[in-house]
Amino acid sequence: MTATPIFDGHNDLLARLYLAGGVKAAGQFRAGRPGGHLDAAKAKTGGFAGGFFAIWVPNSQRGGTPAGKSNDPADAMEAPRYDLPLPAEVPQSEALHAALVQLNTLQALHDEGSLTICTTAQALEDTMAAGKIAALMHIEGAEAIDPDFAVLDDLYAKGLRSLGPVWSRPTRYGHGVPFRFPGSPDIGPGLTEDGKRLVARCNALNIMVDLSHLNEAGFWDVAKLSDAPLVATHSNAHALCPHARNLTDKQLDAVAETGGVVGVNFATAFLRTDGRMVSDTPITAILDHIDYLVARMGEDHVALGSDFDGAVVPAEMQDVAGLPALTKAMQARGYGDALITKICTGNWMSVLRKTLSS
Ligand code: ZN
Repeated sequence: MTATPIFDGHNDLLARLYLAGGVKAAGQFRAGRPGGHLDAAKAKTGGFAGGFFAIWVPNSQRGGTPAGKSNDPADAMEAPRYDLPLPAEVPQSEALHAALVQLNTLQALHDEGSLTICTTAQALEDTMAAGKIAALMHIEGAEAIDPDFAVLDDLYAKGLRSLGPVWSRPTRYGHGVPFRFPGSPDIGPGLTEDGKRLVARCNALNIMVDLSHLNEAGFWDVAKLSDAPLVATHSNAHALCPHARNLTDKQLDAVAETGGVVGVNFATAFLRTDGRMVSDTPITAILDHIDYLVARMGEDHVALGSDFDGAVVPAEMQDVAGLPALTKAMQARGYGDALITKICTGNWMSVLRKTLSS
């Protein structure tokens, strides 16, 4: 039996390859990445048909990374458990270099035929139907983008179709949420004036604006400004897990009202009621959030946003090859085929059809 195809809202493969040497590490995808979440063989086994591939800029080395912390995205997620301050803003020139290396790495994966960079929903669907991995280029934090948007225009030309104004770190465009548990996403000012212009420019270019990592004021700023459905690519329900990275009921309702989507994150710190980032977490914890979001928002607004290669996921899942365990768990909860298809691919495709130009 072949695995159910999954289109996923977030992975950090490019950041991992960047930290492993950049473009020259791209070959690891095909060769296999022991201990990593996502590579060619695991994708085939797990039914990973495509997803958002995030370009993520590491914390600045100039400002100094908080003591004892690496640039590993998973470590970064754990940092706030010790109540460290948010990392410093990364200078644009430094961020641009890291972003370009990751873009070139994605391009190298495209050129060698490991995946296909897609810029429309139709291309994503056609690529998946042809049995190839469909990649949507996403930038998680806009540090690399200058306020005149010359870089944005260039990234767009190279295939960028999704952008988060901030990661959990301030940028000239806005403020992120800390990795704090228990915590509220309501922690200060939202978008800056430049951030408001950035959202307008993304709307004009049909680049999707991602709300994951924005604080609550920033979320409402985007909600007020954006003419596209609201989307959080990898966030969970605050009502079940009161982590600052998760979305309150009011936020979930706003996403649903605009015809948007929330991608359920497999990071155990955003799933568990105790907020711990430990692999000893049942896969049913993911199902609890899916259940809650479907009940709150409706069947058309819930999808997946794994955070593979950026977080600790349940041991039962382990990596991308373990995705069939999730669809099995959905069946065990009585989800019908139509709902499973919506969550695994359909809802992402319909919101991207509305948001990207054709
Ligand atoms: Zn993230």
